[in-house]
Amino acid sequence: MRYVRVARPDGPAFGVVRDDHVVLLDGHPFAEHELTDRVAPLDSVRLLAPVLPSKVLCVGKNYADHAAEMGGDVPAEPLIFMKPATAVIGPDDEIRLPALSTSVHHEAELAVVIGRLTRRVPVERALEAVLGYTCANDVTARDLQKRDGQWTRGKGFDTFCPLGPWIDTDVDPSTGLGVRCEVNETVRQDGTTADLVFDVAQLVAYCAAFATLLPGDVLLTGTPAGVGELRDGDTVTVTVDGIGQLTNRVVSDR
Ligand code: MG
Repeated sequence: MRYVRVARPDGPAFGVVRDDHVVLLDGHPFAEHELTDRVAPLDSVRLLAPVLPSKVLCVGKNYADHAAEMGGDVPAEPLIFMKPATAVIGPDDEIRLPALSTSVHHEAELAVVIGRLTRRVPVERALEAVLGYTCANDVTARDLQKRDGQWTRGKGFDTFCPLGPWIDTDVDPSTGLGVRCEVNETVRQDGTTADLVFDVAQLVAYCAAFATLLPGDVLLTGTPAGVGELRDGDTVTVTVDGIGQLTNRVVSDR
């Protein structure tokens, strides 16, 4: 199943993808819902971020090759930070380069979408909390991340959390899904979820040990090596095999 959130004249609505069409839902994916008879061609609808999370939890240095390129080792336990909900944008929305930063990087990541209220869950049961997966770009003001000493500002600008294009409920990251980033059709990052240091179940359990996870919350699982600069006018695409592609254009506010 692939859940989308689409713009409609009467406001955002959830749907499911069936072949090249979207079937709108009565309700939403996080509670009981039914398919309606309202159908639109997929290429005729504007896709929104597939979810509006109460919080976006993220993990740093969760691929050894990226930890190495940042000049460090893999942490002994997950290194968790958060992005505000105001950073979330959807497919084809613009990533804005802020005037406060001179170095903004892309980070292609697999994102986990939480399906149910979850608190203090053991690792063995943690995947029961997961509704599905989508693509994310953990856009980062690298200069501010380093200068500030903590990451709230560098990771938290408006537009710094593209999500989409949909929530796929069938993929299994433990099988090793390719995670890539292309900038203007040049491959910058090419990794696989087989190389996650802490896997999805471990990350969900770790986060649920300190914060209640709510339906729709999102967990970014870290980025493989190859992060680099985004510049005004770039087009950046995150691909996670088995899920799809998330493309955004970059616009400067500098
Ligand atoms: Mg990241």
